[in-house]
Formats: sequence, structure tokens, C-alpha cells
Amino acid sequence: MKDKYDMLIVGGGPAGAVAARTAAESGHSVLLVEKRPAIGVPVRCAEGIGRDVLAEFIDPDERWISAEIKRATIVAPDATSMILESDLAGSKVGYILDRKIFDRELVWQAADAGADIAVKTRATAPVLQDGAVKGAFIDSCGQKKKVTADVVIAADGVESKFARWCGIDTTVPVREIMSSVQYIMTDIDIDPHSTVFFLGNEVAPEGYLWIFPKGVRSANVGIGISGKKSGEGHRAKDYLDRFVASRFPDGKIIECIVGGVSVCQPLSCTVADGLILAGDAARVVDPLTGGGIYNAMYTGKLAAGVASKAISKGDTKKAALMPYDQEWRASAMGKAIARNYMIKEYLIKLPDQKLNDIIQSASQLNLKEFSTLSLIKELISRNPKLLVELTALRASLR
Ligand SMILES: Cc1cc2nc3c(=O)[nH]c(=O)nc-3n(C[C@H](O)[C@H](O)[C@H](O)COP(=O)(O)OP(=O)(O)OC[C@H]3O[C@@H](n4cnc5c(N)ncnc54)[C@H](O)[C@@H]3O)c2cc1C
Repeated sequence: MKDKYDMLIVGGGPAGAVAARTAAESGHSVLLVEKRPAIGVPVRCAEGIGRDVLAEFIDPDERWISAEIKRATIVAPDATSMILESDLAGSKVGYILDRKIFDRELVWQAADAGADIAVKTRATAPVLQDGAVKGAFIDSCGQKKKVTADVVIAADGVESKFARWCGIDTTVPVREIMSSVQYIMTDIDIDPHSTVFFLGNEVAPEGYLWIFPKGVRSANVGIGISGKKSGEGHRAKDYLDRFVASRFPDGKIIECIVGGVSVCQPLSCTVADGLILAGDAARVVDPLTGGGIYNAMYTGKLAAGVASKAISKGDTKKAALMPYDQEWRASAMGKAIARNYMIKEYLIKLPDQKLNDIIQSASQLNLKEFSTLSLIKELISRNPKLLVELTALRASLR
């Protein structure tokens, strides 16, 4: 490890790993620091990702694919099921990853491209000079060190502290933190090629419960509920335990992980002098699904690309890094986040009866391809009142 790099990446998740790879491929010196002793563990993720979006970054490899998903099943509060087969589910079908191996592979690729990697190495504070970020103080296996860099990419995940240390408000309202628990279960009867989503205020208030296959008789069974709905006797784990006891009474739990997912709007600005925020640290998780692996990789790549150009021009001030913020907001990912935030805000307020009605009418729709947008368009054409409700909601969010 050197004392000075062009780029310093804080965090070895998908955002940090892809940023480090991109930086190294552009010929810049880069150090990635990861506070955990090993990349990829523990896995706080249900590990689902669409096939098409994954292909933008890496060719699928059976070493880190736990299951191939051919259909998605959505279960309404009244148990009505809507099954989306692969020809309909389009980009929504994909893979359940094994992120223990997947995250490691991404970091390996960064190392192969020339990035320096330091595990068990925590960024403890930014190096600040005239208000600009110029690196970080780190603790590497107990040894304290100062590493300077022209640009720091904070990819330190949902609990991100780095941006806060640099004076950026990263607070997520409690109601927009999904309190999550997931079990890896074996010896259970499942469809090994279908993800299943259970909705309803009795099952998962302001969230959903999922079964994501990990093999023929294994799955990631988890839940996310609004932090505001969590309390003594009705925490996420209480809901999940109730579900598991009735659905998989003989199943075995071989892993239990808790975590939080932010389903808020992204930060109002994701750059500062010498600093870019990527992935969960920038709050770019899809607010409707809680999916953030692709968004992390996308923003990680873009962050390093923009930083690389800025470094080459010798100007890493906020204005020179702004193209990052502008580009991801204008991208399909950015637009999907804005749209899905609105839909999420609409859906979480619905009583179970209305959710039942929506899923019943959606299961009768004749869509050419399933996407959140095509689904909403169809539902609006059948129920124009929905458009009025969504428009009013959009106005209230401005
Ligand atoms: C229960 C649950 C289920 C989910 N399911 C899905 C899903 O099915 N599909 C999907 O797409 N997304 C899912 N997500 C979201 C997904 O896991 C994240 O969006 C994704 O991991 C974000 O990647 P990232 O690189 O931004 O952050 P992370 O993967 O969180 O990586 C951040 C890294 O930074 C490190 N770090 C933090 N602070 C420091 C520091 N000071 N110094 C050094 N290192 C530091 C952390 O140890 C961590 O390794 C889920 C999340 C949860 C909690």
C-alpha cells in the first residue's frame, strides 16, 4: 500500500469493486479499502438481479449463480397469485447470485486490472484540505495511516459514514429504512426457478416478504418492513418467524442475517470537492424493490469514469465531478428510481383490499412485457382514478 493514489475507494461491495476496476482500467492508481476481513461476507442481500442488467458488467458464471429465475410470483394479501412467466417477465427474470463469490470475483477483477486492495482496513476520517476531500485516514489491521488521493469514492454502503464525516447529510427517515431479516433455509418445498413476493399488512407491513431460491430445496427467505412499523413483538423477525412456521415448519435455518435497506429518494447531491458517493452510500437503491446491486455497479463505474477524466484534467472540484450526478439522474436507472419512489409511496398506503384488487386486475392484464411502467400504464387504462391518485401524490412529493 502506498501513501498516495489517484483514487481511493472506500468499501469493497459491488459499487466499490466496479469503481476500482474502472479506475485501474483507465490507467489510474487506485486503492480499495474494505473494513471487513473478507470480501462478500456476511451477505446482507437476497442476491436477486436481472439477467440483462448483470450482462452490462460481467458474463454469468455458474461459480456465483445459485439459481436461474424463470418466473416471478406475486401473492396478494388474499392469497391470489399472479405468475409472470419468463416471456412476460422480460428483464425481471435473472439470477439469484452467491454474493460470497460474486463480490469476491468483482474485487478480483479490480485487482487483476491493477487496483491495490486492502481488507481489514477501515477508513476512519477524511483528509480535508481547504474544505476539499484529499484522501482518508485509515486503520489497516491496527496500523494507522494517512492515504492521500485526488478523488475519494465513498462506496461504504447503506450505513455510510464517510459522506457524513465530509459534512453531507445522509440521514434516512426511519420510515424509509426497511428493517430486514433473512434466513437461508434448506429442506423446503419451493419452485427452484421462481422468486415469490408476498404482500400485505399482515405479512409485511409497508414492505414484502420474499422466497428467493438458492437451489432445489434451499432458499433465501426474508422480509423487509418499514422501520416505522417495527416494534416490540412485531419486528421484522416476528413476521418472518410466523411465516416460516406456517409455510416451512420442517425447514432448517442455516443462516440468519439482519440488515437495513434505504428506500428513500437519493441524496440531493452525490458529489463534493474531491468526493463522489456511489451505490447505497448515495441512496440509489430502487425504492420499490429494495434492489441495489445493479445500481451500485452502475454508479461505481460512472463515478470512476468521471473521476478519471477530472483527475486527467487536474481539476477535481465539485463542478468537475458534477457530470456524475447529472448523468446517473438522467439515466434509465435514475428515472426508474424517481418513478418507483412515487409508486412505492402510493402502494405502501394501500389497504389490503385495494392491493387484492390491483393484483387481481393485474393478473388478468394482457401485457406484452412485464415492467413496472407497462403494468402501471395498463392499470391506469382500466382504472383512470389511479392516474389522478398518482398525479396528486407526485405533486405532494415536490
Ligand atoms: C436484506 C437485504 C436484501 C437485499 N436484497 C437485494 C436483492 O435481492 N437484489 C438487489 O439488487 N439488492 C438487494 N439488496 C441491496 C443490496 O444488497 C445493496 O444495494 C448492495 O449491496 C449495494 O452495494 P454497495 O457496494 O453500494 O454497498 P455494500 O454492498 O453494502 O458494500 C459496502 C462495503 O463498504 C464497507 N465499508 C463500510 N464502511 C467502511 C469503512 N469506513 N472503511 C472501509 N470499508 C467500509 C462495508 O463493509 C461493505 O463491504 C438487499 C439488501 C438487504 C439488506
